[in-house]
Amino acid sequence: MEVHRRTPERRPYPPARYNALLLSCMDLRLIDDIVDFMEGDNMSNRYDQLVFAGAALGVMQPKHAAWRDVFFQHLDIAVQLHGIRDVYIIEHRNCGAYAHFLGPSFQYDDTPAGQIAEEDEHRKHAMSLAAAIEEHCARRCDEGGDRDLWSIRVRCFLMDLRGSVRLLTTEEPGYEA
Ligand SMILES: [Zn+2]
Repeated sequence: MEVHRRTPERRPYPPARYNALLLSCMDLRLIDDIVDFMEGDNMSNRYDQLVFAGAALGVMQPKHAAWRDVFFQHLDIAVQLHGIRDVYIIEHRNCGAYAHFLGPSFQYDDTPAGQIAEEDEHRKHAMSLAAAIEEHCARRCDEGGDRDLWSIRVRCFLMDLRGSVRLLTTEEPGYEA
């Protein structure tokens, strides 16, 4: 589902009540667009940002396995220092890191079929990371962590090279991507 880039219009999920953690790719073409998008959710200066080449795939890929540890170590610090309750994962189209980690067949053209295949691939890795975050938070609760503090929602988005954004997944019951 398309969501509006700069304003809260057509954002099919409830707004974040607390601080958030944003995971994005390092891609230099979209730095300002990501700031605009977060501002549209009234999140200016309310989010910690982690930048990994390939966003969700960057965290989950096995080639540099330490990246996954780095992500979750930072997630722990964001929860403890800033009480973040939402994680935004912003993937993007034409991501060089996808081809880098998965191979040249993961470069997609601009045909409708290519765009759908690209979106599906990003959704797969974003959902995989969202599940890993859920498991991590459940483990922290099992270890005696505060259940409210570790109740984290994950929302996954796909941005195109104009900064337009699609919602890939959302966990809220009653809301659909
Ligand atoms: Zn990228």
